[in-house]
Amino acid sequence: MASLSSRDQPRSVSEGELKAANDAPHYDLIIRNGRLLNLSPAGPGEQSCDTRPALADIAIGDRRILAIGPNLSGNARRTIDAQGHLVSPPFVESHIHLDSALTAGEPRWNQSGTLFEGIEIWGDRKQSLTSADVKARALAALKLQASQGVLHVRSHVDVSEPKLVALKALLELREEVRPWMDLQLVAFPQDGLYGAPRNVELLEEALKLGTDVVGGIPHYEFTREDGVRSVHRLFELAEQYDCPLDFHCDEIDDPQSRFLEVVAACALRRGMGQRTTASHTTAFASYDNGYATKLMGLLRLAQLNFVANPLINITLQGRGDCYPKRRGITRVKELWHAGLNVSLGHDCIQDPWYGLGNGNPLDIVQMAIHCCHMTGQREIAACYAMVTHNGAQTLGISPAEYGLAVGKPANLVVLAGQTLRDLSCQRGLATAVISRGHCLAQTPLSITQWDDPPESITYPH
Ligand SMILES: [Zn+2]
Repeated sequence: MASLSSRDQPRSVSEGELKAANDAPHYDLIIRNGRLLNLSPAGPGEQSCDTRPALADIAIGDRRILAIGPNLSGNARRTIDAQGHLVSPPFVESHIHLDSALTAGEPRWNQSGTLFEGIEIWGDRKQSLTSADVKARALAALKLQASQGVLHVRSHVDVSEPKLVALKALLELREEVRPWMDLQLVAFPQDGLYGAPRNVELLEEALKLGTDVVGGIPHYEFTREDGVRSVHRLFELAEQYDCPLDFHCDEIDDPQSRFLEVVAACALRRGMGQRTTASHTTAFASYDNGYATKLMGLLRLAQLNFVANPLINITLQGRGDCYPKRRGITRVKELWHAGLNVSLGHDCIQDPWYGLGNGNPLDIVQMAIHCCHMTGQREIAACYAMVTHNGAQTLGISPAEYGLAVGKPANLVVLAGQTLRDLSCQRGLATAVISRGHCLAQTPLSITQWDDPPESITYPH
C-alpha cells in the first residue's frame, strides 16, 4: 500500500468518491493475498501437491465467508495479509484421546512401548482422575491443536471408569469451547464392553448424558464371541440413541483379528455404513492378500469411514516382531484407491501410549506420507485431504458447513507455504487461525538471521 509522503498535499474528496466509499462493502475481516486450498474428498483426484493456487482475497462477515476473489473491493474492521501463503479449511482431528492427553509418565513411563502396557498404566492413572484435572489437560490439548489450525475434533473418552469422571468433565468442556472449537465425544469402553459387569450400563449412561458417538473395542474383549457380540450390541445402541459409531477395530498385529468384517457386515445390513468408522484396523496390514482382497469387496459395499493413526501405529505395532518388522499401519493407499473415505488422526498426545507429539496435523501427514508409501504427487495431496475434507466426512460434518466457499462458515487457516509440497518440506506453520469469523490465533513465522553467510566463512576463522 502506498504511504503518504511529507511532500503529498492533502486534497478534497469528491462527492462521487465519497459515495463510492460509502457504497463499498464493509466486512468484519478480510484475508488478502491467500492461495485457496480446496482438496477433493476421498478417491484419487486430480489435485497435485505441486499445484500453486492463484491469489485471492476472502471477505468475512457474520461468521460466514461473504466473498472470495482477487483484489476484492471494500474494507474491513480487520485485515490479515496471508502474504501469498496457502489458505486451507481447518484441519479435522478424527481420532484423539483428550481424557488421557498430557499424562505421559504418570504414574510411570511406558517402558515396553506396547499398547497393552499403555492400557495398564492408564488403568492406574484413571483412579486419580478429577474433573479439574481432566478439563485442564483437555483444554491445554485443544489449544495446542487450535493454534495449529485444528477446529474440529473427535475425542474418544474412556467410559469403563465407574464414576464417568472424565466423560462428565469433557461434556462440560465441549459446551465451554463451542464458541471456537467443534468437539465430538465418543463413549469408548476402553476395558471392553464385557470386560467388567457394569461396562454396558456405563456406556449406556454415557449416551444418556449426551455423548455424540458410540465406541467399541471388539479385539480387546476376552473372546472372539464377546467381540462379535459387542459389535452387535453397539449397533443396537447406536440405533436406539441415533448416534454414529466409531470402533477401535483390530488395533493389533494378529492376522486372525477379523472384527472389521463383522463391523462392515453389520453396517451394511443396517444401512449405517456412512455413519460408521473403523479406526486403526492395523491387523488389515497383516492379513494375507487373499483374505484382504475378499474383505475389500465387502468394505466397498459397506462404505465405512476409516481412520489411520500413523504416529501411534508405527510406534505401537510390530513390537513383537523380529525381522522383517511390520509397519502395522492399515492399507491406507489401497483403501484410498478403492474410493473409500480415509482420514488420519493423532490418537495420543503425550500419554501412556505415546509420550511425544503436540497435536500438529502436519506431523500426522508427514508420517503417513512416509509409512504408507504415499510420496507421489497426488498421494501427498491425498494425505492432506485426509486431515481436512475426509476428516470432515468422517465426523459427519455437512458439506455445506465445511470448506472454502461463499456462504460457508468462516473457519480457515493460513499455512506458510505456496504448495502442499512446501508444507511437507517446511512443515508449514499455521500463521493465522480463523474460527467462526474471528482470528483465534496467530503465530509469527521465524526467520533465520545469519550473522555471517556461511559460504563467506573461511578457515582459520
Ligand atoms: Zn485410539
